[in-house]
Amino acid sequence: MKTEFLLVGQGLCGTWLSYFLEQEQREFLVLDPGNLPNASKQAGGLINPVTGRRLVTTWLIDELMPFAKQQYGQLEQLLISRSTKPDDNLFEERSIIQFFSHPDTRSVFEKRALERSDYLQLPTEELLETKAFDHLHGYGIIQKSYQVRPDLLLTAYKEHLSRSGRLLEKKFEYDRLVPLPGGGRYDDISFDYLIFCDGTGTHGNPLFNHLPVAPVKGEALIVRAPDLPASYVFKGPLTLIPLGNSGYWWVGSSYEWDFSDPYPSTNFRSATEQTLKQWLQLPFTVTDHWAAIRPGSKERRPFVGILEQYPPIGLLGGMGTKGCSLAPYFARQLVQHLLRQAPLNPEANLRRFERN
Ligand SMILES: Cc1cc2nc3c(=O)[nH]c(=O)nc-3n(C[C@H](O)[C@H](O)[C@H](O)COP(=O)(O)OP(=O)(O)OC[C@H]3O[C@@H](n4cnc5c(N)ncnc54)[C@H](O)[C@@H]3O)c2cc1C
Repeated sequence: MKTEFLLVGQGLCGTWLSYFLEQEQREFLVLDPGNLPNASKQAGGLINPVTGRRLVTTWLIDELMPFAKQQYGQLEQLLISRSTKPDDNLFEERSIIQFFSHPDTRSVFEKRALERSDYLQLPTEELLETKAFDHLHGYGIIQKSYQVRPDLLLTAYKEHLSRSGRLLEKKFEYDRLVPLPGGGRYDDISFDYLIFCDGTGTHGNPLFNHLPVAPVKGEALIVRAPDLPASYVFKGPLTLIPLGNSGYWWVGSSYEWDFSDPYPSTNFRSATEQTLKQWLQLPFTVTDHWAAIRPGSKERRPFVGILEQYPPIGLLGGMGTKGCSLAPYFARQLVQHLLRQAPLNPEANLRRFERN
């Protein structure tokens, strides 16, 4: 079997990379057994333009936002045309109600709202939804945020790949890779380029052991709170993200840099349930508990590009906490780089790190 691009992994990175290769009508195959850790399926799916206590706009956000809107919209159309799109929207604009924990956080919001009124607004009237929460210090609205449903998107795209014969449900094993000048071979597949989109798989990948990876464990609960209107994302001591109009909510999440296992923990569950009981004034039941490792980098910048020593071997990863916005943007940049030698963002180009 001969292909131009062999991709390892179908998380958000592998999905977007294959989508842009498909748009360019290039030949590719994706290897993913479907039973390895996958951060994308556990993600909240939020694209929030501001971050941290100071509410600074996130890296590249003014480029990422319009790009995400356009590309998720087009991918959704493709999945509709192939009848693999589920009933729920895969992507939509959804404002975030940000509750203030302290009068100081309100002052920061007010100041930043003057500077970035495109994203930050104070409410002009009390929003009914906020009565469902115990809050003392008021709230602001983060608008032009987006919600992606990565779990639904990946499942729909997997079906699309399978139907076109481009998905091989197999695990990639390094010792079966045979690099050749200008290409390589893996089992009976010969390829021109091998691109890893293997999430935390990269962390044990001998080809990339020079990269400063920083895995971050995250946990979330799935709760049913049928009386809470699914109109906003609510951010306070926790983040509540509606899963369509089903009455189910994604409630998260934790950020653990130092962890001993990738599994759901009883500590997270009990602390989160207790916080939610105090904060949300409506009945809820916990129906599921998720945990995954975010494939991050110490510099909080992704790893994108092709290794110097192995010209045909590349990587799209290190998306950390922002895979929903960074994966499509850098997948397209990588495709443009591979096909047209377009430059990669130097802050993301993996050649900023030298192999020993
Ligand atoms: C709790 C939590 C909440 C999050 N919330 C958000 C959020 O709200 N917004 C946001 O933007 N981001 C969020 N993230 C981060 C986001 O999930 C990641 O940035 C993103 O999913 C990384 O995508 P990826 O494709 O690199 O990796 P993954 O999604 O982990 O995919 C890697 C894929 O590679 C495959 N694979 C691995 N090794 C092999 C192998 N040897 N052979 C074949 N296949 C292989 C796996 O099966 C998997 O399918 C969250 C993450 C977590 C854990």
